[in-house]
Amino acid sequence: MNKGLFPRHEGHLDELSQLEALIQQAGPLLESRVISYSATRDHLYPVYSLRLGNPSPEVPALAFVGGIHGVERIGTQVILAFLESLITRLRWDETLLETLNHVKLVFLPLMNPVGMFRNWRANGNGVDLMRNSPVDADEKVPWLGGGHRLSRHLPWYRGRLGADMESEALALGKVIREELFPAPFSLVLDCHSGFGTRDRIWFPYAYSRTQVVEHLPELYQLRKMLFTTYPHLHYLFEPQSRHYTTHGDLWDHLYLQAIEQQRTFLPLTLEMGSWLWVKKNPAQLRRLVGMFHPIQPHRVRRVLRHHQLLMEFLVRATRSYDRWSSAMIRERNRDEARALWYSDVFCSAR
Ligand SMILES: [Zn+2]
Repeated sequence: MNKGLFPRHEGHLDELSQLEALIQQAGPLLESRVISYSATRDHLYPVYSLRLGNPSPEVPALAFVGGIHGVERIGTQVILAFLESLITRLRWDETLLETLNHVKLVFLPLMNPVGMFRNWRANGNGVDLMRNSPVDADEKVPWLGGGHRLSRHLPWYRGRLGADMESEALALGKVIREELFPAPFSLVLDCHSGFGTRDRIWFPYAYSRTQVVEHLPELYQLRKMLFTTYPHLHYLFEPQSRHYTTHGDLWDHLYLQAIEQQRTFLPLTLEMGSWLWVKKNPAQLRRLVGMFHPIQPHRVRRVLRHHQLLMEFLVRATRSYDRWSSAMIRERNRDEARALWYSDVFCSAR
């Protein structure tokens, strides 16, 4: 029987144990709930949503999401490292406590525990959660990688046509709609790894190269603030479609819903470039997980440290949103943003 504080999951997963230890350590300031369960034949894993800060729908909100792809453990670890630092600071950091009066922070660090337990990208049903929404690309996508309905035994499987979305994807959407959409401003950082040698920050759309998000001026302003505040940070900050388009992107799906409801919602994806980890240590090619996760401890520590600054920046930017997302700034940025990210699209359309 299930005894004790946490649901039973005997198939051990370090990241889940770490997450539950943090929940215990944090005490009542961190609210936690189980939003879904995912199961293997033998084990049941809870999917947690955590909340820190002001729960009011009147304050801006920021969510950190990780572990959507089970094999990309570093995304979960980056969020847990940040959460741990916040929890430690709750005891002494007056500026953090003051910030938390004005902002809501939501953490969904381990969305696909079965995938992580198995060192898989997909969830327990073989579905790629980031290809699982009903949004179809408006042009040809990369074969398989862009999402397909051929077989759950091939990676990037979207799920059956017309089937409900997977329970993890539904639970994520529900939390985002309940916790973020009512806020006057909201932002997401969804942490992944594996594409290229550079760290990238992507924003929608993934389904189209030519459709431009409503909040392009805000994204442009956020990028400008990040690069002027931390000039030594080397992120590429771009629409995902500059690299490849996909079917079924969850953030496209949620962004389109937010726009329908006239919400200001900026979903970002942090794509940590893992090819460099492999280049510096080719031996890790032998372990599949090594493609998506730095194996050497010093490299793991460096990755965790590096992204803390970005996460800290996003907390401050969210809290101070009304200083930098006014109508005037929107007007000023619109053309520059299009010139930066969509010059090919708009030139060829003329
Ligand atoms: Zn991923």
